[in-house]
Amino acid sequence: MTPAGMQKIAILYDLSQAVMSTFDVDEVLNRTLNIMRDYFQMPNAGIFLVDYREDELYLRAGFGRPHKPGEVRQKVGEGLVGSAAHSKRAISVGDVSKDPRYIQRLSATRSELAIPLMVRDNVVGVLDFQSEQANFYDGETIDLLTLFATQVSQGIQNARLYSSEQRRARQLEAINAIARQTTAVVNLEELMDKFCKLILERFSVDHVAVLLETDGRLVMKAHQGKLTAAMKAGTMLELGTGLASRAFDSGKSVMENDVSGNAGYLPGFVETQSEMCAPLLFFGEKLGVLVLDSAQKHAFEDADTQSLEAVADICAGAIYNARHFERTRQLAYQDGLTGVFNRRFFELRIAEEMERANRYGSQVAVVMLDIDHFKRLNDEFGHLLGDEVLRQVSKLLVQNVRKGDVLCRYGGEEFSLLLPQTSGDNAYEVAEKLRRAVEVYPFPGVPRPVSVSAGVADCPRFGKTRDEIVAAADAALYQAKQAGRNRVMTAEKARQAPGAND
Ligand code: GH3
Ligand code: MG
Ligand code: MG
Repeated sequence: MTPAGMQKIAILYDLSQAVMSTFDVDEVLNRTLNIMRDYFQMPNAGIFLVDYREDELYLRAGFGRPHKPGEVRQKVGEGLVGSAAHSKRAISVGDVSKDPRYIQRLSATRSELAIPLMVRDNVVGVLDFQSEQANFYDGETIDLLTLFATQVSQGIQNARLYSSEQRRARQLEAINAIARQTTAVVNLEELMDKFCKLILERFSVDHVAVLLETDGRLVMKAHQGKLTAAMKAGTMLELGTGLASRAFDSGKSVMENDVSGNAGYLPGFVETQSEMCAPLLFFGEKLGVLVLDSAQKHAFEDADTQSLEAVADICAGAIYNARHFERTRQLAYQDGLTGVFNRRFFELRIAEEMERANRYGSQVAVVMLDIDHFKRLNDEFGHLLGDEVLRQVSKLLVQNVRKGDVLCRYGGEEFSLLLPQTSGDNAYEVAEKLRRAVEVYPFPGVPRPVSVSAGVADCPRFGKTRDEIVAAADAALYQAKQAGRNRVMTAEKARQAPGAND
């Protein structure tokens, strides 16, 4: 080698140090471009990287060209860039007009040089140079650039490995944090919100959603992020459509880095470009799907699947436990015979409502309701039919109150109804409606009408404590019975009744 050649190698070594001393891919590419421009005096350059999934190269960085990164894509094997990647050899064309592989992107190009970026036997990208002069690139420049390209490749590879490692480390830490911060949450809704929030914070995505299976469909139960929802909350997704459903059906994660090219994709969010779905599985039972969306294409790496599945497992376990807890708690507050709330729940709720009423000056009403001559009904038709009547009366009552009202079996054949934010007058109307509903109902197996009596009291008019209100409603109920049954009595009227204060 000539002394000049030796000197060039020495300089090349220094240049290599520059591209090898950073762990940031874009910084590697920037430094490479600077060297192309300042040292090799290239009029322009483009660095293409390989998109393995698509078997394509895309422009990642460059100078002296009108194209922005990402604007140019090239199939491996097509054009001079694609051919260099395919053949794994530098291609230099002195007159592009005579080469059938040439694809025109810059109008004045006469000669082109494409050098593959290789790590061992793998192509990671292509360096591309174009010139307005024919035969612009001489053999020595090509040799030097080819040597330099191996250093650039190594720099890119190192940076990628490093960033992958970093990403894994962050995800591992995220998995830990998510597990730690959700173990104590037993409320299902709170839990799902928390999962979305934590995953959003810890994984670099733009939106996170939890879909749960209900009656053969997937329903979005919670979501967090900055993307615009394309479906209304609570929209039911039929199984068999969309990526989430594919993950659910197959029990396997689905990753799509360019949703525009996926015919089976159903847009959940307007800006989504990449989506990843992991099934929520608990001991083989499919609960739903965890969905991560990004507004960027190619947002996910293959290795992300593992991390997401680890999070999905934690999520599924927590959801399963929360559901179990809710079922258990529900049983603790439910009456076994009738299915309505039990007295324990009434005591809990009335305490809450009284406190709210006292604090905000709002109203609460209580109706105590008792089946008339129930003992006689039992005696005449048997205890089993009595039980059935109790169930049917409960059903009638539940059907005739609002969602926020709390109907409880207070004991035996007595019910209590808690009506938040309701005046005594309105509560009277409700009780009257219930009384009529029972009176006209043809109870199967009972050859005569069944009736109820009720007493109504409201806070603050008849007291400010639970005991005062319940006692006032009880007294009114007693008066209703005294007055002949099958009627509703208010605490106000009960006070005026003869013998009320005996
Ligand atoms: P009143 O009109 O004054 O309320 O008369 P009543 O017979 O309904 O009142 P009483 O309190 O004397 O009797 C209530 C009866 O309800 C007694 C009990 O056998 C019956 N009972 C209580 N709980 C149940 C139950 O779970 N199933 C059945 N079948 N009967 C019950
Ligand atoms: Mg009774
Ligand atoms: Mg009774």
